[in-house]
Amino acid sequence: MNFDDAQGWLVGEPHKGLRAMFIMMNAARLGVGMQGLGICEVAYQNGLAYAKDRLQMRSLTGTKAPEKPADPIIVHPDVRRMLLKSKAVTEAGRALSYWTGMNLDIANKHADEGKRQEADDLVALLTPIVKAYLTDMGTEIGNECMQVYGGHGYIAEWGMEQYVRDARIAQIYEGTNGIQALDLVGRKMGKSFGRLLRRFFHPVQKFISENQADESMQEFIFPLAKSFAKLQQATAMIAQKGMKNPDEAGAASSDYLRQFALVALAYMWCLMVKAAQAKLEAKEGDQEFYESKIITARFFMQRMLPEADGRFKMVMAGADTLMELDASGF
Ligand SMILES: Cc1cc2nc3c(=O)[nH]c(=O)nc-3n(C[C@H](O)[C@H](O)[C@H](O)COP(=O)(O)OP(=O)(O)OC[C@H]3O[C@@H](n4cnc5c(N)ncnc54)[C@H](O)[C@@H]3O)c2cc1C
Repeated sequence: MNFDDAQGWLVGEPHKGLRAMFIMMNAARLGVGMQGLGICEVAYQNGLAYAKDRLQMRSLTGTKAPEKPADPIIVHPDVRRMLLKSKAVTEAGRALSYWTGMNLDIANKHADEGKRQEADDLVALLTPIVKAYLTDMGTEIGNECMQVYGGHGYIAEWGMEQYVRDARIAQIYEGTNGIQALDLVGRKMGKSFGRLLRRFFHPVQKFISENQADESMQEFIFPLAKSFAKLQQATAMIAQKGMKNPDEAGAASSDYLRQFALVALAYMWCLMVKAAQAKLEAKEGDQEFYESKIITARFFMQRMLPEADGRFKMVMAGADTLMELDASGF
């Protein structure tokens, strides 16, 4: 836009514009992360309803609905894989968002300045992860749940393809997810000698130490601890190599963000398991709801968290393979 002969007024103090812009930007990034999470939720709700309703073939292990001409597709392992992935991401993504939101409130309202600073650090660290991971998942889960519908997912009448189209922009605006990853490794990782990182690393380490002897937590704590150790290793590698050669940090950034997000989700699942186990032991509340938390956590640990190992390997591979090819060779 070009405003000929228009008068401009300075808003705020001179040379403080970028800082002011980032206040708006950080809020917008968290908001866009919620857009991704919202799409995961609505896509999952629709996918689940359809999977219980749509009849197609019989279960591999024998008929489940003999009164019907075919079984509902929710009996099929591959349909369950798509639904469980959607459920595991959506519920842990929501927990991560609540944790971030709670810390946003503490950062704004707590009486103790130290607590405000700690919470503000954690929010700053988690903002690029919430924005990039949850919007990536908006597209991925939108696609999984569209797939649950088969051909009906692709045509406009059911509304599923609309979610996928709507999800795609959230990975781009308010700073592409590539830029979020650079923010994580470039600005957040090294800030104040790793002070922001410690706001995440310390509670995770504390949780592992306090719960590793608990027999009922073993199947959840062990994968969390393993993936957490690799996250620390990747962090140290990026910090060291990135100082000598910034391309190393840039090359690692997107895979590192994904690895970080998966570890954060594993931590959220461990917290949810702990709460669910307490409710089941006390026979309080909706027992099926808490059982389903534990089963979904198990799915996450066994069938989603292993992706963090793959991302770790990609991070550790370094920048050479990305930078070797001359632009003319592409
Ligand atoms: C529908 C829509 C609505 C929008 N609404 C608004 C709005 O309301 N207000 C507003 O201000 N903006 C808005 N935008 C702009 C949006 O925020 C930008 O398009 C977005 O941040 C990406 O910037 P760019 O288009 O300049 O991409 P570019 O910066 O040109 O990036 C192109 C590609 O290169 C990558 N890249 C660029 N630099 C680097 C680097 N240093 N290292 C690694 N990778 C890099 C990017 O990740 C991306 O993949 C909107 C855009 C769209 C499409």
